[in-house]
Amino acid sequence: MKTLAKELWFETKKRLEFIDITARVEAALAESGVREGLCLVNAMHITASVFINDNESGLHADFADWLEKMAPHEPVSSYRHNVGEDNADAHLKRQIFGREVVVAITEGKLHFGPWERIFYGEFDGKRRKRVLIKIIGE
Ligand code: ZN
Repeated sequence: MKTLAKELWFETKKRLEFIDITARVEAALAESGVREGLCLVNAMHITASVFINDNESGLHADFADWLEKMAPHEPVSSYRHNVGEDNADAHLKRQIFGREVVVAITEGKLHFGPWERIFYGEFDGKRRKRVLIKIIGE
């Protein structure tokens, strides 16, 4: 069995940002040499997500608006978590968008459905944070 573990690092300019990491996951897959197996991609922080969806800017704006309605950043004082920090909304947003994705690897490629891309979802940005890619197979 072959395995590869790789970390991707991010430092976003905004609090909330979605970054298409598909090409970086495909590069890790090529590096692994795995033809048949599984690829896990997970956020290493509890205020960020990894998710799969369409790479369409209108949809991403809708995601941001929807998340802000469900878990608004302001007023910061409305959250019990925000004692000495201000990121309660980011923890909630991460719960909605999830921690990780697992993608099947078939014939050396990520086995996606139509329009599927992998995204890093940042909800408490402007600091260095990372994602783990773990690939196993043969
Ligand atoms: Zn926190």
